[in-house]
Amino acid sequence: MFGAYELAYRGNGKLSVLIIDQGHDVKNRKCPVQNYKTCTKCPVCSIMSGVGGAGTLSSGLLNLRPDIGGDLIEFTGDEKGAWDLVNYVDSIFLKYGAPKDVYRGDVDEAIELQRRSASCGIKFLPITQRHMGSDGAPKVIDNFKADLEKMGIKFMLDTRVEDVNAGKVILENGTTLNARYILLAPGRVGANWAADVARRLSIPAKHEPIDIGVRVEVPAFVMAPIIAVNRDPKFHIYTDTYDDFVRTFCVNHQGFVVKEVYDKFVGVNGHSMTETTSDNSNFAFLVRVVLTEPVEDTTAYGRSVVQQATILGGGEPIIQRLGDLRMGRRSTWTRISHSQIKPTLRSATPGDIAMAMPHRIVADIIEGLEKLDEIIPGVASSSTLLYAPEIKFSANKFEVNNDLETPIENLFVAGDGVGLSRGIVGAAANGVIAGRGILKKASLL
Ligand SMILES: Cc1cc2nc3c(=O)[nH]c(=O)nc-3n(C[C@H](O)[C@H](O)[C@H](O)COP(=O)(O)OP(=O)(O)OC[C@H]3O[C@@H](n4cnc5c(N)ncnc54)[C@H](O)[C@@H]3O)c2cc1C
Repeated sequence: MFGAYELAYRGNGKLSVLIIDQGHDVKNRKCPVQNYKTCTKCPVCSIMSGVGGAGTLSSGLLNLRPDIGGDLIEFTGDEKGAWDLVNYVDSIFLKYGAPKDVYRGDVDEAIELQRRSASCGIKFLPITQRHMGSDGAPKVIDNFKADLEKMGIKFMLDTRVEDVNAGKVILENGTTLNARYILLAPGRVGANWAADVARRLSIPAKHEPIDIGVRVEVPAFVMAPIIAVNRDPKFHIYTDTYDDFVRTFCVNHQGFVVKEVYDKFVGVNGHSMTETTSDNSNFAFLVRVVLTEPVEDTTAYGRSVVQQATILGGGEPIIQRLGDLRMGRRSTWTRISHSQIKPTLRSATPGDIAMAMPHRIVADIIEGLEKLDEIIPGVASSSTLLYAPEIKFSANKFEVNNDLETPIENLFVAGDGVGLSRGIVGAAANGVIAGRGILKKASLL
Protein backbone atom coordinates (compact mmCIF):
# COMPACT_ATOMS: atom_id res chain seq x y z
CA MET A 1 0.00 0.00 0.00
CA PHE A 2 2.91 2.36 0.70
CA GLY A 3 4.40 1.47 -2.68
CA ALA A 4 1.05 2.20 -4.33
CA TYR A 5 0.82 5.47 -2.41
CA GLU A 6 4.15 6.63 -3.85
CA LEU A 7 3.10 5.66 -7.38
CA ALA A 8 -0.20 7.52 -7.07
CA TYR A 9 0.99 10.51 -5.11
CA ARG A 10 4.35 11.26 -6.71
CA GLY A 11 3.54 9.68 -10.05
CA ASN A 12 0.48 11.95 -10.42
CA GLY A 13 -1.66 9.01 -11.51
CA LYS A 14 0.39 8.41 -14.67
CA LEU A 15 0.72 4.69 -13.94
CA SER A 16 -2.26 2.40 -13.46
CA VAL A 17 -1.80 0.40 -10.29
CA LEU A 18 -3.46 -2.83 -9.12
CA ILE A 19 -2.99 -4.35 -5.65
CA ILE A 20 -3.67 -8.09 -5.53
CA ASP A 21 -4.17 -9.82 -2.18
CA GLN A 22 -5.34 -13.33 -1.35
CA GLY A 23 -7.08 -12.01 1.79
CA HIS A 24 -10.27 -10.06 2.43
CA ASP A 25 -11.15 -6.39 2.73
CA VAL A 26 -10.54 -4.83 6.17
CA LYS A 27 -14.11 -5.11 7.43
CA ASN A 28 -14.34 -8.79 6.43
CA ARG A 29 -11.15 -9.74 8.20
CA LYS A 30 -12.29 -11.62 11.28
CA CYS A 31 -10.41 -14.41 13.06
CA PRO A 32 -12.56 -16.86 15.05
CA VAL A 33 -9.59 -17.94 17.19
CA GLN A 34 -7.55 -14.71 17.41
CA ASN A 35 -4.33 -16.69 17.27
CA TYR A 36 -2.87 -17.26 13.84
CA LYS A 37 -0.41 -19.84 15.17
CA THR A 38 -3.05 -22.21 16.55
CA CYS A 39 -5.91 -21.56 14.13
CA THR A 40 -6.69 -24.08 11.42
CA LYS A 41 -10.23 -22.91 10.67
CA CYS A 42 -9.75 -20.54 7.73
CA PRO A 43 -8.35 -21.40 4.30
CA VAL A 44 -6.87 -17.90 4.19
CA CYS A 45 -5.80 -16.66 7.63
CA SER A 46 -7.45 -13.30 8.31
CA ILE A 47 -4.78 -12.27 10.81
CA MET A 48 -1.97 -12.68 8.29
CA SER A 49 -3.79 -11.90 5.02
CA GLY A 50 -5.97 -9.16 3.61
CA VAL A 51 -5.90 -5.40 3.04
CA GLY A 52 -3.05 -3.93 5.10
CA GLY A 53 -1.40 -7.33 5.58
CA ALA A 54 -0.37 -8.71 8.99
CA GLY A 55 -0.23 -5.20 10.52
CA THR A 56 -3.99 -4.57 10.21
CA LEU A 57 -5.08 -6.91 13.00
CA SER A 58 -1.93 -6.45 15.10
CA SER A 59 -1.63 -4.07 18.02
CA GLY A 60 -0.19 -1.66 15.47
CA LEU A 61 2.88 -0.58 17.38
CA LEU A 62 4.99 1.61 15.12
CA ASN A 63 8.68 1.40 16.07
CA LEU A 64 9.97 4.75 14.82
CA ARG A 65 13.64 3.90 14.28
CA PRO A 66 15.37 2.92 11.01
CA ASP A 67 17.42 0.12 12.64
CA ILE A 68 14.48 -1.64 14.32
CA GLY A 69 12.47 -4.10 12.23
CA GLY A 70 15.09 -4.11 9.49
CA ASP A 71 17.98 -1.88 8.53
CA LEU A 72 16.93 0.96 6.25
CA ILE A 73 20.43 2.46 6.11
CA GLU A 74 21.38 -0.55 3.97
CA PHE A 75 19.26 0.97 1.18
CA THR A 76 19.48 4.72 1.83
CA GLY A 77 23.24 4.63 2.37
CA ASP A 78 23.09 7.20 5.17
CA GLU A 79 21.38 7.70 8.51
CA LYS A 80 19.61 10.90 7.54
CA GLY A 81 17.95 9.29 4.52
CA ALA A 82 16.82 6.38 6.70
CA TRP A 83 15.35 8.69 9.38
CA ASP A 84 13.62 10.75 6.65
CA LEU A 85 11.96 7.57 5.43
CA VAL A 86 10.78 6.61 8.93
CA ASN A 87 9.35 10.10 9.46
CA TYR A 88 7.69 10.01 6.06
CA VAL A 89 6.04 6.64 6.78
CA ASP A 90 4.94 7.94 10.18
CA SER A 91 3.42 11.05 8.56
CA ILE A 92 1.31 8.82 6.29
CA PHE A 93 0.05 6.79 9.27
CA LEU A 94 -0.81 10.11 10.97
CA LYS A 95 -2.56 11.38 7.84
CA TYR A 96 -4.88 8.36 7.95
CA GLY A 97 -5.73 8.67 11.63
CA ALA A 98 -2.97 7.12 13.77
CA PRO A 99 -3.01 8.68 17.27
CA LYS A 100 -1.00 11.89 17.61
CA ASP A 101 0.62 10.91 20.92
CA VAL A 102 3.83 8.90 20.95
CA TYR A 103 5.61 6.99 23.71
CA ARG A 104 9.01 8.56 24.05
CA GLY A 105 9.64 8.27 27.78
CA ASP A 106 11.57 10.85 29.73
CA VAL A 107 14.52 11.87 27.56
CA ASP A 108 16.88 12.54 30.49
CA GLU A 109 16.06 9.19 32.10
CA ALA A 110 16.59 7.43 28.76
CA ILE A 111 20.01 9.07 28.39
CA GLU A 112 20.90 8.03 31.94
CA LEU A 113 19.82 4.45 31.19
CA GLN A 114 21.90 4.51 28.02
CA ARG A 115 24.91 5.67 30.03
CA ARG A 116 24.45 3.03 32.74
CA SER A 117 23.98 0.32 30.11
CA ALA A 118 27.09 1.38 28.21
CA SER A 119 29.12 1.18 31.42
CA CYS A 120 28.18 -2.54 31.62
CA GLY A 121 28.85 -3.20 27.95
CA ILE A 122 25.16 -3.21 27.03
CA LYS A 123 23.52 -1.10 24.34
CA PHE A 124 20.15 0.36 25.28
CA LEU A 125 18.13 1.57 22.29
CA PRO A 126 15.80 4.41 23.18
CA ILE A 127 12.87 4.28 20.85
CA THR A 128 9.87 6.43 20.01
CA GLN A 129 6.73 4.36 19.46
CA ARG A 130 3.29 5.20 18.13
CA HIS A 131 0.58 2.79 19.22
CA MET A 132 -2.43 2.45 16.92
CA GLY A 133 -3.93 -0.39 19.00
CA SER A 134 -5.80 -3.41 17.70
CA ASP A 135 -8.96 -1.32 17.42
CA GLY A 136 -7.22 1.68 15.78
CA ALA A 137 -5.06 -0.10 13.17
CA PRO A 138 -7.98 -1.42 11.03
CA LYS A 139 -9.52 2.09 10.93
CA VAL A 140 -6.23 3.64 9.78
CA ILE A 141 -5.85 0.98 7.08
CA ASP A 142 -9.45 1.43 5.96
CA ASN A 143 -8.93 5.21 5.59
CA PHE A 144 -5.66 4.53 3.75
CA LYS A 145 -7.37 2.14 1.32
CA ALA A 146 -10.26 4.58 0.68
CA ASP A 147 -7.79 7.35 -0.21
CA LEU A 148 -5.76 5.06 -2.49
CA GLU A 149 -8.98 4.19 -4.30
CA LYS A 150 -9.79 7.89 -4.66
CA MET A 151 -6.35 8.32 -6.26
CA GLY A 152 -7.23 5.62 -8.80
CA ILE A 153 -5.56 2.55 -7.24
CA LYS A 154 -7.56 -0.65 -7.82
CA PHE A 155 -7.75 -3.59 -5.40
CA MET A 156 -8.26 -7.22 -6.48
CA LEU A 157 -8.99 -9.12 -3.27
CA ASP A 158 -9.54 -12.78 -2.36
CA THR A 159 -7.23 -13.61 -5.26
CA ARG A 160 -4.08 -15.65 -4.84
CA VAL A 161 -1.12 -15.02 -7.12
CA GLU A 162 0.22 -18.36 -8.29
CA ASP A 163 3.40 -17.14 -9.97
CA VAL A 164 5.22 -14.09 -11.27
CA ASN A 165 7.62 -13.80 -14.14
CA ALA A 166 9.20 -10.94 -16.05
CA GLY A 167 6.21 -8.70 -16.85
CA LYS A 168 3.61 -11.33 -15.98
CA VAL A 169 1.45 -12.13 -12.96
CA ILE A 170 -0.30 -15.50 -13.04
CA LEU A 171 -3.40 -15.80 -10.86
CA GLU A 172 -4.66 -18.98 -9.20
CA ASN A 173 -7.49 -19.28 -11.77
CA GLY A 174 -4.93 -19.37 -14.56
CA THR A 175 -5.46 -15.79 -15.75
CA THR A 176 -2.26 -14.01 -16.76
CA LEU A 177 -2.00 -10.27 -16.21
CA ASN A 178 0.63 -8.22 -17.99
CA ALA A 179 2.43 -5.68 -15.83
CA ARG A 180 5.23 -3.34 -16.78
CA TYR A 181 6.46 -3.31 -13.20
CA ILE A 182 5.77 -5.81 -10.42
CA LEU A 183 6.25 -5.25 -6.70
CA LEU A 184 6.20 -8.53 -4.78
CA ALA A 185 5.51 -8.08 -1.04
CA PRO A 186 3.93 -11.31 0.24
CA GLY A 187 4.81 -10.98 3.96
CA ARG A 188 5.54 -13.82 6.39
CA VAL A 189 2.53 -15.77 5.18
CA GLY A 190 3.99 -15.82 1.67
CA ALA A 191 7.67 -16.28 2.63
CA ASN A 192 7.92 -19.93 1.50
CA TRP A 193 6.11 -19.10 -1.71
CA ALA A 194 8.49 -16.17 -2.30
CA ALA A 195 11.47 -18.49 -1.74
CA ASP A 196 10.02 -20.81 -4.43
CA VAL A 197 9.62 -17.84 -6.80
CA ALA A 198 13.26 -16.89 -6.17
CA ARG A 199 14.37 -20.44 -6.99
CA ARG A 200 12.28 -20.61 -10.17
CA LEU A 201 13.54 -17.26 -11.42
CA SER A 202 17.12 -17.88 -10.22
CA ILE A 203 17.05 -14.76 -8.04
CA PRO A 204 19.82 -15.16 -5.46
CA ALA A 205 18.28 -15.35 -1.96
CA LYS A 206 20.27 -16.16 1.13
CA HIS A 207 19.41 -17.62 4.51
CA GLU A 208 19.17 -14.99 7.22
CA PRO A 209 20.16 -15.32 10.88
CA ILE A 210 17.47 -16.64 13.22
CA ASP A 211 16.92 -15.89 16.91
CA ILE A 212 16.60 -18.74 19.44
CA GLY A 213 16.21 -18.44 23.18
CA VAL A 214 13.76 -18.32 26.03
CA ARG A 215 10.92 -16.25 27.43
CA VAL A 216 11.99 -14.77 30.77
CA GLU A 217 9.40 -14.13 33.50
CA VAL A 218 10.09 -12.00 36.57
CA PRO A 219 7.96 -10.19 39.16
CA ALA A 220 6.50 -7.05 37.58
CA PHE A 221 8.15 -4.85 40.24
CA VAL A 222 11.58 -5.98 38.97
CA MET A 223 10.83 -4.49 35.54
CA ALA A 224 8.82 -1.49 36.74
CA PRO A 225 11.71 1.04 36.97
CA ILE A 226 12.80 0.26 33.39
CA ILE A 227 9.23 0.24 32.07
CA ALA A 228 8.87 3.75 33.50
CA VAL A 229 11.62 4.82 31.08
CA ASN A 230 10.50 2.75 28.10
CA ARG A 231 7.44 0.50 27.68
CA ASP A 232 9.27 -1.97 25.40
CA PRO A 233 12.94 -1.59 26.38
CA LYS A 234 15.40 -3.03 23.89
CA PHE A 235 18.83 -4.09 25.19
CA HIS A 236 21.56 -5.46 22.92
CA ILE A 237 24.30 -7.53 24.55
CA TYR A 238 27.42 -9.35 23.34
CA THR A 239 28.32 -12.27 25.60
CA ASP A 240 31.84 -12.71 26.95
CA THR A 241 32.48 -16.38 26.18
CA TYR A 242 31.21 -16.58 22.60
CA ASP A 243 30.88 -12.90 21.69
CA ASP A 244 27.34 -13.78 20.55
CA PHE A 245 24.58 -11.20 20.06
CA VAL A 246 21.72 -11.51 22.56
CA ARG A 247 18.75 -9.15 22.82
CA THR A 248 15.57 -8.47 24.72
CA PHE A 249 12.44 -8.40 22.59
CA CYS A 250 8.69 -8.03 23.07
CA VAL A 251 8.51 -6.95 26.72
CA ASN A 252 5.09 -7.52 28.28
CA HIS A 253 4.75 -5.68 31.56
CA GLN A 254 2.16 -7.33 33.84
CA GLY A 255 1.55 -9.78 31.02
CA PHE A 256 1.24 -13.49 30.39
CA VAL A 257 3.43 -16.16 28.81
CA VAL A 258 1.57 -18.16 26.15
CA LYS A 259 2.19 -21.38 24.27
CA GLU A 260 2.39 -21.36 20.48
CA VAL A 261 1.67 -24.48 18.50
CA TYR A 262 3.49 -24.95 15.19
CA ASP A 263 3.16 -27.93 12.88
CA LYS A 264 5.90 -30.08 14.45
CA PHE A 265 6.85 -28.27 17.64
CA VAL A 266 5.67 -25.90 20.35
CA GLY A 267 7.12 -22.55 21.29
CA VAL A 268 6.40 -19.68 23.65
CA ASN A 269 5.47 -16.06 23.26
CA GLY A 270 4.09 -13.33 25.52
CA HIS A 271 1.28 -10.85 25.50
CA SER A 272 -0.30 -8.23 27.71
CA MET A 273 -3.83 -6.89 27.91
CA THR A 274 -5.12 -3.53 29.03
CA GLU A 275 -7.97 -4.94 31.16
CA THR A 276 -6.48 -8.15 32.63
CA THR A 277 -3.05 -7.91 34.20
CA SER A 278 -0.74 -10.32 36.06
CA ASP A 279 1.84 -9.73 38.81
CA ASN A 280 4.63 -10.70 36.40
CA SER A 281 6.45 -9.25 33.42
CA ASN A 282 7.93 -11.29 30.59
CA PHE A 283 10.25 -10.73 27.64
CA ALA A 284 11.94 -12.78 24.95
CA PHE A 285 15.70 -13.22 25.43
CA LEU A 286 17.09 -14.32 22.11
CA VAL A 287 20.46 -15.44 20.81
CA ARG A 288 21.24 -14.66 17.18
CA VAL A 289 22.34 -17.72 15.22
CA VAL A 290 24.28 -17.19 12.01
CA LEU A 291 25.54 -20.18 10.05
CA THR A 292 28.22 -20.25 7.37
CA GLU A 293 29.32 -23.00 5.01
CA PRO A 294 28.88 -25.93 4.79
CA VAL A 295 25.45 -25.52 6.46
CA GLU A 296 23.71 -22.20 5.96
CA ASP A 297 20.10 -23.23 6.39
CA THR A 298 19.34 -21.51 9.70
CA THR A 299 15.65 -22.49 9.46
CA ALA A 300 16.47 -26.23 9.36
CA TYR A 301 18.89 -25.83 12.27
CA GLY A 302 16.37 -23.80 14.32
CA ARG A 303 13.63 -26.34 13.69
CA SER A 304 15.84 -29.20 14.88
CA VAL A 305 16.61 -27.34 18.13
CA VAL A 306 12.97 -26.53 18.92
CA GLN A 307 11.81 -30.03 17.95
CA GLN A 308 14.29 -31.47 20.46
CA ALA A 309 12.95 -29.12 23.14
CA THR A 310 9.41 -30.19 22.29
CA ILE A 311 10.30 -33.89 22.68
CA LEU A 312 11.88 -33.19 26.05
CA GLY A 313 8.88 -31.16 27.24
CA GLY A 314 6.48 -33.97 26.25
CA GLY A 315 4.80 -31.73 23.68
CA GLU A 316 4.74 -28.70 26.00
CA PRO A 317 7.24 -25.85 26.48
CA ILE A 318 9.86 -26.43 29.20
CA ILE A 319 9.87 -24.22 32.29
CA GLN A 320 12.94 -23.91 34.51
CA ARG A 321 14.15 -21.61 37.27
CA LEU A 322 17.36 -19.81 36.36
CA GLY A 323 18.85 -21.05 39.66
CA ASP A 324 18.18 -24.68 38.69
CA LEU A 325 19.70 -24.11 35.25
CA ARG A 326 22.83 -22.68 36.87
CA MET A 327 23.02 -25.61 39.32
CA GLY A 328 22.73 -28.13 36.49
CA ARG A 329 19.48 -29.70 37.73
CA ARG A 330 15.95 -29.87 36.34
CA SER A 331 13.15 -27.84 37.85
CA THR A 332 10.12 -29.49 39.42
CA TRP A 333 6.82 -27.90 40.43
CA THR A 334 7.97 -28.22 44.06
CA ARG A 335 11.17 -26.29 43.37
CA ILE A 336 9.24 -23.69 41.37
CA SER A 337 6.80 -23.29 44.28
CA HIS A 338 9.73 -22.22 46.50
CA SER A 339 10.15 -19.10 44.35
CA GLN A 340 8.18 -15.97 45.05
CA ILE A 341 7.10 -15.76 41.41
CA LYS A 342 4.11 -17.79 40.17
CA PRO A 343 4.28 -18.84 36.52
CA THR A 344 1.56 -17.50 34.23
CA LEU A 345 1.85 -20.50 31.87
CA ARG A 346 0.88 -23.55 33.93
CA SER A 347 0.75 -26.06 31.07
CA ALA A 348 4.57 -25.97 30.66
CA THR A 349 6.68 -28.97 31.77
CA PRO A 350 9.28 -28.35 34.51
CA GLY A 351 12.55 -29.63 33.07
CA ASP A 352 16.11 -28.83 32.11
CA ILE A 353 16.68 -26.40 29.26
CA ALA A 354 20.35 -27.49 29.14
CA MET A 355 19.14 -30.90 27.89
CA ALA A 356 17.11 -29.27 25.13
CA MET A 357 19.29 -26.50 23.73
CA PRO A 358 22.91 -26.38 22.57
CA HIS A 359 25.44 -25.45 25.26
CA ARG A 360 26.39 -22.27 23.44
CA ILE A 361 22.83 -20.92 23.49
CA VAL A 362 22.37 -21.84 27.16
CA ALA A 363 25.70 -20.19 28.08
CA ASP A 364 24.69 -17.06 26.14
CA ILE A 365 21.36 -16.90 27.99
CA ILE A 366 22.92 -17.24 31.45
CA GLU A 367 25.74 -14.76 30.73
CA GLY A 368 23.41 -12.32 29.01
CA LEU A 369 20.95 -12.33 31.93
CA GLU A 370 23.78 -11.83 34.41
CA LYS A 371 24.93 -8.79 32.45
CA LEU A 372 21.38 -7.48 32.23
CA ASP A 373 21.04 -7.89 36.00
CA GLU A 374 23.47 -4.99 36.40
CA ILE A 375 20.86 -2.75 34.73
CA ILE A 376 17.71 -4.51 35.94
CA PRO A 377 18.55 -5.86 39.41
CA GLY A 378 16.67 -9.09 40.10
CA VAL A 379 16.41 -10.23 36.50
CA ALA A 380 19.06 -12.93 37.03
CA SER A 381 17.81 -14.05 40.44
CA SER A 382 17.61 -17.79 41.12
CA SER A 383 13.83 -17.70 41.01
CA THR A 384 13.61 -16.06 37.56
CA LEU A 385 11.56 -18.34 35.30
CA LEU A 386 12.71 -19.37 31.83
CA TYR A 387 10.38 -20.93 29.27
CA ALA A 388 11.82 -22.63 26.18
CA PRO A 389 11.90 -22.62 23.27
CA GLU A 390 11.21 -19.18 21.83
CA ILE A 391 12.25 -18.82 18.21
CA LYS A 392 12.01 -16.16 15.50
CA PHE A 393 12.58 -17.46 11.99
CA SER A 394 13.58 -15.19 9.09
CA ALA A 395 12.54 -15.28 5.46
CA ASN A 396 15.24 -15.80 2.84
CA LYS A 397 16.69 -12.43 1.84
CA PHE A 398 16.38 -11.58 -1.85
CA GLU A 399 19.30 -9.96 -3.67
CA VAL A 400 18.19 -6.44 -4.63
CA ASN A 401 19.70 -3.10 -5.61
CA ASN A 402 19.14 0.06 -3.56
CA ASP A 403 15.73 0.57 -5.23
CA LEU A 404 14.73 -3.00 -4.21
CA GLU A 405 14.76 -4.19 -7.80
CA THR A 406 15.79 -7.84 -8.23
CA PRO A 407 18.14 -9.06 -10.97
CA ILE A 408 14.93 -9.70 -12.99
CA GLU A 409 14.35 -6.35 -14.64
CA ASN A 410 11.29 -4.45 -13.35
CA LEU A 411 10.56 -7.04 -10.66
CA PHE A 412 10.76 -5.22 -7.32
CA VAL A 413 10.33 -6.77 -3.87
CA ALA A 414 9.61 -5.42 -0.37
CA GLY A 415 8.84 -6.42 3.18
CA ASP A 416 9.09 -9.36 5.57
CA GLY A 417 8.37 -12.11 3.03
CA VAL A 418 11.55 -11.41 1.07
CA GLY A 419 13.73 -10.93 4.15
CA LEU A 420 14.09 -7.15 3.85
CA SER A 421 12.13 -6.08 6.96
CA ARG A 422 10.73 -7.36 10.25
CA GLY A 423 8.08 -4.87 11.24
CA ILE A 424 5.38 -2.49 10.05
CA VAL A 425 7.52 0.63 9.64
CA GLY A 426 10.39 -1.23 7.93
CA ALA A 427 7.99 -2.97 5.52
CA ALA A 428 6.18 0.31 4.77
CA ALA A 429 9.51 2.09 4.15
CA ASN A 430 10.47 -0.75 1.77
CA GLY A 431 7.25 -0.05 -0.12
CA VAL A 432 8.16 3.63 -0.41
CA ILE A 433 11.69 2.81 -1.67
CA ALA A 434 10.37 0.33 -4.25
CA GLY A 435 7.60 2.76 -5.34
CA ARG A 436 10.20 5.47 -5.93
CA GLY A 437 12.41 2.94 -7.73
CA ILE A 438 9.56 2.17 -10.13
CA LEU A 439 8.94 5.88 -10.69
CA LYS A 440 12.62 6.36 -11.53
CA LYS A 441 12.51 3.54 -14.08
CA ALA A 442 9.36 5.01 -15.58
CA SER A 443 11.14 8.41 -15.74
CA LEU A 444 8.49 9.90 -13.47
CA LEU A 445 10.87 10.92 -10.67
C1 LIG B 1 0.06 -11.12 15.24
C2 LIG B 1 1.09 -10.15 14.74
C3 LIG B 1 1.31 -8.98 15.43
C4 LIG B 1 2.27 -8.05 14.97
N1 LIG B 1 2.45 -6.87 15.64
C5 LIG B 1 3.33 -5.96 15.16
C6 LIG B 1 3.47 -4.69 15.77
O1 LIG B 1 2.79 -4.34 16.74
N2 LIG B 1 4.40 -3.80 15.25
C7 LIG B 1 5.17 -4.13 14.18
O2 LIG B 1 5.99 -3.29 13.75
N3 LIG B 1 5.04 -5.32 13.56
C8 LIG B 1 4.13 -6.23 14.02
N4 LIG B 1 3.98 -7.43 13.38
C9 LIG B 1 4.77 -7.66 12.16
C10 LIG B 1 4.15 -6.86 10.99
O3 LIG B 1 2.79 -7.13 10.91
C11 LIG B 1 4.87 -7.21 9.72
O4 LIG B 1 6.25 -6.92 9.91
C12 LIG B 1 4.36 -6.41 8.52
O5 LIG B 1 2.99 -6.54 8.36
C13 LIG B 1 5.08 -6.88 7.25
O6 LIG B 1 4.52 -6.23 6.15
P1 LIG B 1 4.62 -6.83 4.68
O7 LIG B 1 4.00 -5.84 3.78
O8 LIG B 1 5.99 -7.30 4.41
O9 LIG B 1 3.73 -8.16 4.70
P2 LIG B 1 2.27 -8.43 5.24
O10 LIG B 1 1.79 -7.32 6.07
O11 LIG B 1 2.31 -9.80 5.83
O12 LIG B 1 1.39 -8.45 3.92
C14 LIG B 1 1.57 -9.41 2.91
C15 LIG B 1 0.28 -9.59 2.17
O13 LIG B 1 0.56 -10.38 1.01
C16 LIG B 1 -0.54 -11.24 0.79
N5 LIG B 1 -0.06 -12.43 0.05
C17 LIG B 1 0.93 -13.28 0.39
N6 LIG B 1 1.13 -14.20 -0.57
C18 LIG B 1 0.21 -13.92 -1.53
C19 LIG B 1 -0.11 -14.52 -2.78
N7 LIG B 1 0.57 -15.58 -3.27
N8 LIG B 1 -1.11 -13.98 -3.51
C20 LIG B 1 -1.82 -12.90 -3.07
N9 LIG B 1 -1.55 -12.30 -1.89
C21 LIG B 1 -0.56 -12.81 -1.14
C22 LIG B 1 -1.02 -11.61 2.18
O14 LIG B 1 -2.37 -11.99 2.11
C23 LIG B 1 -0.80 -10.32 2.95
O15 LIG B 1 -1.97 -9.53 3.03
C24 LIG B 1 3.03 -8.35 13.81
C25 LIG B 1 2.79 -9.54 13.12
C26 LIG B 1 1.82 -10.44 13.57
C27 LIG B 1 1.59 -11.70 12.80
